[in-house]
Amino acid sequence: MKLETIAVHAGKNSDPGSGAITSSIQLATTFEREADGAFPHGYIYARSNNPNRKNLETCLAALEGGAAAAAFASGSAASMAVFQALSPGDHVIAPLDVYYGTSVQLRELLERWGLKVSYVDMSDASQVEQAVISKTRLLWVETPSNPLLKIVDIDRMVAIGRRAGALVACDNTWATPVLQRPLEMGVDVVMHSTTKYLGGHSDVISGALISKVEDDFFRRLRLIQASGGAVPSPFDCWLVQRGVSTLAWRVRAQSEQAFLVAQFLSRHPKVAAVHYPGLKSHPGHEAAARQMKSFGGMLAFQVKGGRDAAMAVAAGVKVFTRATSLGGVESLIEHRASVEHPGTRTPDDLLRVSIGLEHVDDLIEDLSQALA
Ligand SMILES: *Cc1c(COP(=O)(O)O)cnc(C)c1O
Repeated sequence: MKLETIAVHAGKNSDPGSGAITSSIQLATTFEREADGAFPHGYIYARSNNPNRKNLETCLAALEGGAAAAAFASGSAASMAVFQALSPGDHVIAPLDVYYGTSVQLRELLERWGLKVSYVDMSDASQVEQAVISKTRLLWVETPSNPLLKIVDIDRMVAIGRRAGALVACDNTWATPVLQRPLEMGVDVVMHSTTKYLGGHSDVISGALISKVEDDFFRRLRLIQASGGAVPSPFDCWLVQRGVSTLAWRVRAQSEQAFLVAQFLSRHPKVAAVHYPGLKSHPGHEAAARQMKSFGGMLAFQVKGGRDAAMAVAAGVKVFTRATSLGGVESLIEHRASVEHPGTRTPDDLLRVSIGLEHVDDLIEDLSQALA
C-alpha cells in the first residue's frame, strides 16, 4: 500500500459502540479483567498500554515500514530512551550539530551515567570511521541537520555501523517518512519528534521510536517506555494520528514551497548564504538527492550585516511568526543563535525558517518586504 493510504487508514478503527468513523478517545487509566484474571483486550493499565497509543503505534510502524513502534511524551523522551537502553561505558557517535536538546541530554545527563560520546562532522563519513572504537554501540544520525541543513549519507552510516557492530538510529523528524526511509536503508531505529511534521499543527508535544525488527533492543525501549513512564496521553496520541492523516500532502506542499523560497533568497542581494539541500550549490545536494524524495520544508539563511541585520529581518515579518519549532501549518522564523547556548556554533546572522501552508507568494512577499 502507498504511504498516503497508510497515513489515512493504519491503526484507525471505527467505534464499535456507535459506528463513529473516527477512533474514540479512551481516557480510562485502568481496564476490567475477567473473573479468572485474564485481560482479553490486551490492556491492564494505561501507562503500560492503551487503545489510542496502540492505534498510533500501529500507524507509525506502518508509516516508517518498521516492525514495531513505541510512542513517548516528547521527541526528547524518545531519544532519551534510546540512550538509556545502552550501558555505562558504551560509546556513541553523534553529529557535532546534533539537535540542541539531544546534545544537552548526552552532555548533561548521560555522560554522567557513563556513556562515552564522540561528536563529529557526520557529513564527512571518514570522520565517523575514524571515531569508531571497540566500545562503539550506537551511531546517532540526524539528517538534514539543524540549523545548517547538513546532509549525512545514511548508506555510509549503515555500512560503518555494520562493520563496527553498532546500532544505527536516525532522527527522521525533519525529513519525515514521506521524504526519507531510513529503515529501508538499513537503519535499526527511527526517532521522531512527532511534535513537528507528524502532528503537524503545533498543538501537541510527543515523540516516537520505530524499530526495523522487534528485537531485544526494542524490548528494552518498550521497558523504558512503560516503566520510565514518559508516555503520551490518549488525547495526544489521537491528535498525532489525526495529523498523520494529511502528512504526505502537507510535506509535499511545504517542500515545494521551501524550494521556491530558497531560490528567491539565493537571488536576494541582502542574503549572504542560503542553506537548503535542494539548491545545487548546497554541499549535501547530491547525497540528499540520492536519499530524499524531495528536500523538505526547512531552510536557513544568513543576512548580510550580521546579527543586527538578521534580527531586523525577523522583526519585520508580518506573515511569518517569530517562534521556535517547525512542521506546522504556519510558517515560522527564528534567530537560532539566541535560543541556543552562549558557545553555540550557529552563525549570528542566521535565521531558520519552517515553511507552512500559506500561499508561497505571500511568504516570498513577506520576506521581500522584511529584507527591504
Ligand atoms: C524538536 C526536535 C526534537 C525534540 O523533540 P521534542 O518533541 O521537542 O521533545 C528532537 N530532534 C529534532 C530534530 C527536533 O526538531
